[in-house]
Amino acid sequence: MPLSCEVCGAEVRFPVAVEIDGAVLNVCNSCARMGRKLKKAETGKGTPREVRQVTSPEPEFDIDPEYSSKVRTTREKLGLSQEQLGKMINVKPSVISHIETGRLKPDLILARKLMHALKINLLIPVNELEER
Ligand SMILES: [Zn+2]
Repeated sequence: MPLSCEVCGAEVRFPVAVEIDGAVLNVCNSCARMGRKLKKAETGKGTPREVRQVTSPEPEFDIDPEYSSKVRTTREKLGLSQEQLGKMINVKPSVISHIETGRLKPDLILARKLMHALKINLLIPVNELEER
């Protein structure tokens, strides 16, 4: 039984599988031009879509205004010297001293280290600060 083109009905010996409007049809060579040929080589060639990674912004935090007294009282409560605390978070004791006197406001990285070492929270969401 001869095969016929599924578009024009012409008899075809070697039908070509093409995609026309989302449907896969076996068609003759002339009708094949209307569709998109299904070839393995083509499958990976789809139009590259530009995927923009929208990273949701991390909630903004600011350093607790009470950081200096928090660090000092917690450190003393834990019985740590400024040297010991400095060693724990890999900073000089003078840095701890400056933080405790309020002369040095730790950045977020340093604050997180202090939080980890002292098990306290030194970060306040910015919007919470504004509500004060
Ligand atoms: Zn045809």
